[in-house]
Amino acid sequence: MQAEIKLTKSVIFELVTAAVEAYVVKHDYSRTIAVETFAYLFGKVNKKLPLKCTIEHISIETSAKKRRGSVEVKKVSYDFKRELASLFGDSFDYIGTMHTHPWLKGEESGSGPIETAEQVRRHQLFLLSDADHKCEVNRHFSVGKRDFSLACTVTLFAMQRANDRKDYSSDEMPNLYELTLGNLKIWFYMQAFEHIKSDQLTDEQIKLFGKYGLEYQKYKKFEKLPIPIDTSFDKTELLQTFIAAGFGRFSIDEDNNQGLYLQKASAETRLQYKD
Ligand SMILES: [Zn+2]
Repeated sequence: MQAEIKLTKSVIFELVTAAVEAYVVKHDYSRTIAVETFAYLFGKVNKKLPLKCTIEHISIETSAKKRRGSVEVKKVSYDFKRELASLFGDSFDYIGTMHTHPWLKGEESGSGPIETAEQVRRHQLFLLSDADHKCEVNRHFSVGKRDFSLACTVTLFAMQRANDRKDYSSDEMPNLYELTLGNLKIWFYMQAFEHIKSDQLTDEQIKLFGKYGLEYQKYKKFEKLPIPIDTSFDKTELLQTFIAAGFGRFSIDEDNNQGLYLQKASAETRLQYKD
């Protein structure tokens, strides 16, 4: 089974603005800067297989508990947002979720501190965690008699200086796109799942279930399990929007919990806007 995902231009705008805001702007109730954020994704799902979805709307979880290494959302929000969306008709099908992975320079990754964008790539910090995968359980939509869901991560890392030389080519990983925004690197990663009854899984699917570290033995009594399937997404809008984009510079002052943005034009006139 394969999944093909599309994102509209306005969804890309909303995802990038939400992800960058949570990364550089300290929230009043938060003790730290660069926190995770979370959104539900809605749009159009083709009625026939293979799975094809277009994400057309997002709903940011403003009530989420946002921390550096986690984001916590309430079930009540999922329950009502999903039903509310259904009132809006065809292009408001529930598709899945997005959350961010904010990484700061010098942060410990579990295999050493992250100093460069290259290390984010090498350790594939844009991948889902086992906890991310577990969140997919029981959250799916149907196409015919089969059930699916989609998880998207947006990973951010502020480099010392702008460098777009190593942006991933589109072919390398069909479900990953790396873009450069000034000195900020952003990775879009998408993983679709087919939810299959646990007693009907093939050996291959059981193996795939372990892709993000979950152990089948611990979950085999669950009714249905989310099995990762081949996923690709259309990168045309991302390419057209961000290719060779001129942009300013973000700096993150962790000691003072402050993020600054030096606008592209201001960088030339030495004007600096503070919050
Ligand atoms: Zn995650």
